[in-house]
Formats: sequence, structure tokens, C-alpha cells
Amino acid sequence: MGPLGMSPLLRAALEYAAAGIPVLPLHSPTGTGCSCGRPDCDRPGKHPRWHRSLLRRGLHDASTRAELIRRWWTRWPDANLALRTGDRFDVCDVDPPGGVAALRALVRDRRITGPVVRTGSGGWHLYLRPTGAGNRTGLLPGVDWRGAGGYVVAPPSRHASGRDYRWIRPPAVPLADCPPELTVLLFPPAPRRSTAGTADRVRHPDRYGCAALAAEAGSVAVAPVGTRNSTLYRAAYQLGQLAALDLLDDRDITAVLADAARRSGLGRYETARTIRSGLRTGRRHPRPGLAA
Ligand SMILES: [Zn+2]
Repeated sequence: MGPLGMSPLLRAALEYAAAGIPVLPLHSPTGTGCSCGRPDCDRPGKHPRWHRSLLRRGLHDASTRAELIRRWWTRWPDANLALRTGDRFDVCDVDPPGGVAALRALVRDRRITGPVVRTGSGGWHLYLRPTGAGNRTGLLPGVDWRGAGGYVVAPPSRHASGRDYRWIRPPAVPLADCPPELTVLLFPPAPRRSTAGTADRVRHPDRYGCAALAAEAGSVAVAPVGTRNSTLYRAAYQLGQLAALDLLDDRDITAVLADAARRSGLGRYETARTIRSGLRTGRRHPRPGLAA
């Protein structure tokens, strides 16, 4: 209990609500499982509570009403706390180590600013300006997106591991825009089928190329030992196929893939040779069906 006899979870919930963020009570980890009591619960302390009059519709009941929030945490003082995503912010959910490597490879030296939570499982929640996108699992390897229709477990909730969720950069820090490399993945350009019905034409060549480059870099960055060099070669080959159509530039491909390969642990010499070779071969075989 806090100094006013109020549970820290209730106090935090009221503060979020006062800032206009809809909150929701979740089940709590019990040490041996989940307060829902199901022995097979696979999301202990991470799913919404239910009550026939207080909370019937899960996420849709998320609220900023102080009176309702007090009733929730009076009934369940140790309820974990969720924040609804999609209206005030979206959250990029990053699981180490793969997700961190994939995200770094994607945004390279761009620093992602804004509020950050260290999750109870040792991951990261990056709070960003809302994009309008919905939830996406596996946006990159180890990276999920929580947007419209989603929620995140928020501090000071407790994880099943016993660790708390905590703010690394506080919620009052201004939100940053979603990095363009991620926006491209959230809204992938749809190749348009040509009227001839035989070839897919690319509507936004620069965005298409950028999305392909981001995706390939992500797979290179997290490639397991033993497959790293072949993954890098395949990535360079496939991007070379796009470079042959002027959808990408050799220098960009080389820089991004080299960075991803370095993060995967590949040596500089081997990396340079593999990229050069993959690019050269890919350029000789332009991606069929994409030519305008
Ligand atoms: Zn449960």
C-alpha cells in the first residue's frame, strides 16, 4: 500500500486515466499460475478480468472514469494493469535478443525516442505516435505491434517471473513518430495486378524496395549460426533482383545488409564478399513479374 493506503496499481491506473489513457484491470500472476485459476492459462497476469456487472466486454470496457477504476481495484487490489493502444499511442513490443537485433538492423542509427517500458520478461515496449495500424504479430522476428484494438501490460504490473514492468523513459516524454522503416512494414505496398493480368506492377517503387530491404535485413540480423552466410547471400541475391529493376540502389543494399550481418556476428571480409556475389548474381536475374 502507498502512503495514502491506496494500492500502487490503483494509484497508477488513476494517473493514466487522468492523462486520458483508457485502463483495464488484468488478472495477476499468483506465483504458481494465474488468478484466473485455469491450470493451463498460457498468459498468466496478462489477460483481462471479467465480471458480470463491472467488466463484461474485456478490452472494450477500458476506461478513464475514476469512479469505475476505483471500483475495479477495490474489488481486485492486486489486478495487473493494461493500457489500451491505438488512440493515444501505439506500442512496438520488442523481445530480446532477436527483436532488438532485427529492429536495430531496420532503423540502423536512427534513435527511437519517446516513452519506454522494460517489461517483466526483459523485453521493451516502445511507445510511439498512433499509426492507425491494428495489432501485428511478427512484424519483424521478435517484434510485435500493438495498435488499434490492442492493449499492453503497463507499470507497475507484475510479470509471472516476479519482476515488475517499469518505465525506463517516463510516459510524460513526448511521443515520437513511428520510424518510416516500420511504417512501411505496417502498411506494406500492395503490388497491383496489371490489366494484362500477367504481371504485378509496383505502384510505389521506392516504398516497395524499402520494405523488401527492411525485411531482408531483419532476417539477416537474426539468422542462426550455421545459416548466416546463406541467409545473407539469399538476401543480397533477392535485393539484387530488385536493383536490376532500379527499385533499389546497390550502395543502400550493401550498407544495410552489411550492418545487419555485423549484428548477426558475421565477419567483415566474409560479409563484403557474400553481398557482392549475391548482388551480382541477383542483378543478372531481375525479379520476374515486377517490371513496369
Ligand atoms: Zn490466466
